[in-house]
Amino acid sequence: MPDTSHHCILKVALDTPLNAIFDYRWPCEAGAEPLVGQLALLPFGAREVVGLIVGIAHQTDVDPAKLKDALAVRSQLAPLSPQWLALAGFAADYYQRPLGEVALPGLPKNLRVLTTVALDRALKKLDKNAAEHDGTPLNVPRLNDAQQEAADAIGGATGYSPTLLYGVTGSGKTEVYLQACAQVLEREPGGQILILVPEINLTPQLEGNIRARFPGVMLATLHSSLSEGERMLHWLAAHQGRARIVLGTRLAILASLPRLKLIVIDEEHDPSYKQQEGLRYSARDLAVWRAWQLGIPIVLGSATPSLESWHHAQSGRYRKLELRERAVKNAVLPQVKLLDMERDKPKDGLTSHLVAALRQRMDRGEQSLLFLNRRGYAPVICCESCGWISNCNRCTSFMVLHKPEHRLRCHHCSLEMRIPRHCPTCGNVDLQPLGRGTQRVEEGLQQLFPEARILRIDADSTRKKGSAKEAFDTVHRGEVDILIGTQMVAKGHDFKKLTLVGILNPDTALFSQDYRASERLFAQLMQVAGRAGRAAQTEGGSASEVLIQTRYPQHPLYGAVVNHDYDHFATALLEEREQAALPPYLFQALLRAEAPELATAIAFLEQARDCLPHPGITINDPIPMSMTRVHNVDRAQLLVESASRPALQAFLKYWLAELRAIKGRIKWSLEVDPLDI
Ligand code: ADP
Ligand code: ZN
Ligand code: ZN
Repeated sequence: MPDTSHHCILKVALDTPLNAIFDYRWPCEAGAEPLVGQLALLPFGAREVVGLIVGIAHQTDVDPAKLKDALAVRSQLAPLSPQWLALAGFAADYYQRPLGEVALPGLPKNLRVLTTVALDRALKKLDKNAAEHDGTPLNVPRLNDAQQEAADAIGGATGYSPTLLYGVTGSGKTEVYLQACAQVLEREPGGQILILVPEINLTPQLEGNIRARFPGVMLATLHSSLSEGERMLHWLAAHQGRARIVLGTRLAILASLPRLKLIVIDEEHDPSYKQQEGLRYSARDLAVWRAWQLGIPIVLGSATPSLESWHHAQSGRYRKLELRERAVKNAVLPQVKLLDMERDKPKDGLTSHLVAALRQRMDRGEQSLLFLNRRGYAPVICCESCGWISNCNRCTSFMVLHKPEHRLRCHHCSLEMRIPRHCPTCGNVDLQPLGRGTQRVEEGLQQLFPEARILRIDADSTRKKGSAKEAFDTVHRGEVDILIGTQMVAKGHDFKKLTLVGILNPDTALFSQDYRASERLFAQLMQVAGRAGRAAQTEGGSASEVLIQTRYPQHPLYGAVVNHDYDHFATALLEEREQAALPPYLFQALLRAEAPELATAIAFLEQARDCLPHPGITINDPIPMSMTRVHNVDRAQLLVESASRPALQAFLKYWLAELRAIKGRIKWSLEVDPLDI
C-alpha cells in the first residue's frame, strides 16, 4: 500500500466512454478537504480535463508510480448534492452508460473548461442581482371547479404523488400548473419547482405567463438556444437555490435543484422528451424517478397522454385528474370534419371545401392554420420520360426540392446541390416536382388568395436565431391571415383569433410499420386541432372547425378524432398492445450497429445475439434499419425484449461487457426503451 498519509484519493468520474472511476491524489489539509460533488481539474493522458468527485478515499490500488495529482479543486462552487449524484447514477445505470458521460455533459460547458473566469464572473453577477423584489401578480383568473380541484390536488400533495392531468386542449392546464405552483411556493420557503415543456418555441409564452404571475420570484430558463454565458448563469441560479422556478426543455431534467418540491411536465406525451442521440434518455421517465427519489409530487399533463402514462393511470400507479371542458367561457372544442379527397379532388393540395372555408375566414377577419408535416417544396423531383428520381447518393432517401434557394437538399445527410437543368440520365429538360411540401402549399395559397397575409413556419423559415419567436409573435398580433406550418405550429400555442385548422395529408402515418405511428398521429391531430377555437366565439363569428383531408374517411382513428374521444381510442390501443405483447407490456432495448458495408454491421449483431445465454430474454434477428444508409454508412439493428424490466436490466449489464470485448472496428450503441424501431 502506498503511503498516502498526507494525501487523500479523489475518486473521479470523467466524460469518457471508458466505464470507470479514476483515482487522483490530492493533498488533504485539515479543514480544507474537498467534498464529494465538487469538480476538479485533472491531468488525463496528454490533456487536462474537468472531472466530478464522486468519492474520497484514503487508499488506492493504483500503482503509486502511475498515480497522478489532481491540479485543482473548484472549491468556489457548492458541491452537487448526493441526490443529484444519485440521479446521474440512476440514469447511467438505467441507460447503460458510464457515469461521467451522463453527469458531465449535463453541466454547463463553462464549468467544464480549464479556467474559472466564466464561473467567477457568473457567481459575482448572481450576487449582484440577488435581491428579490415584490410585486402584484397580474390577471389571475378564477379557476373553474375542475381546475380548482386539480390545482388543489397537485399543489396540496405531499410526498411522492404522480398525477396525470388529462385535460382537453384549451382546458386551462397551464393555469392549473401556475396555481399549484403558487401553493407550493407559498408553503415551502425556498422550495423550487421544475417545469418542463417539449419545445423551445413554447418557453417564451410560458415564461411571460410565469413572470407576470410571480413577479417577485426568480425564474431561470434552461434550453438549447441559450448562449453559454446565459446557460451558466441560469444553471448556477438553480444550483444555488436562488431560482425558485426553472423552466426548460428535456435537458433541464438534469439541472441541479437542491430544494426541488414539485415537477411539472407539460405535454407529457411529446416525443421530444426523448433524447435521440448520445445518452438516449427519456426526460419524462427520469422526472418521475426524480420525484420518487425526493418524495415530491409530479404532474404530467396532456390532452393525449402517452400510452405508458395512460396505462399507469388505469392501473392506479398515477392518479388521474380530468378537465373535460375548455376554460374560456363560450369557447368550445372545434367541430372536426373529414373531407374525402376521392370525392372532392384537391387542386394544389386543397379540396374545394377547404378553400371555401379559408375564404370564409378571410372575409370575417379570422385566422386559419394549415398543417402539413413536410417541409420543402416537394419531397422529390423526377423525370417523366425515363423515370429518374432525385435520390440522395449517400442515403436511402430522396433529395428534397427547396425552391426559394433553387436547391435540392437531403434532410438526412445535408447533401446539397443546384437543381439539375436536365435529367442526369436522359437529358430531358422537363423535370417535375412530385408531392407537396409547405413551400409548395404556400405558393398555391398566394395564387389563390393574393390579398391574404400568408406566413409559413417550419424549420427552414426559422433558421435564424430568434426568428421563430418573431414569427409566432406576428401570428399572436393578428398580422397573419393564413398560417402554414409543420409540427412546429401544432403544439401548445394559444392563438386567439384562429377558427379554422386544415390538415392536408395525414394518411401516410396510417400505414406505417411503426406500431407507435397511430398513437402519434392521433396525438398530433388532436394537438393541431386544439389550436382552433380557443377564444370565445363572437357574435357573427365562425364556429371553429377542423377539416381533415383524407382518402380514408372510414378509418377508426379518424372516427375517434372526430369524436374527440381519446379515452376509447387509448384504451383500445392498449388492449391491442397487450395482446400483441408490445410496450408498455413489454420492455425493450435496441442495439444499433453501423459500418460502411451492411454485412459488417449484421455480422457484429449476429455475434452480439449469440454471445451469451439469455433465459427470459428474447433477442430477435438483426435487420437493416428501415432507412438503411445515411451519409454512406449502413445501419442495422437488433431488438432485445423481456416481460421483466429487472431481468432486461440485469442482462444488459452483462451483455454490454461482452459487447465491449468484441473485436473489430464497428460503431454501435445501445438504447433502452427505444421509441423508434
Ligand atoms: P391547455 O394548456 O389546457 O391547452 P391553456 O392553459 O393554454 O390550455 O388555456 C387555454 C386558454 O384558457 C388560455 O387563454 C387561458 O388564459 C384561458 N383560461 C385558463 N383558465 C381559465 C379560467 N379559469 N377562466 C378563464 N380563462 C381561462
Ligand atoms: Zn430522364
Ligand atoms: Zn443524404
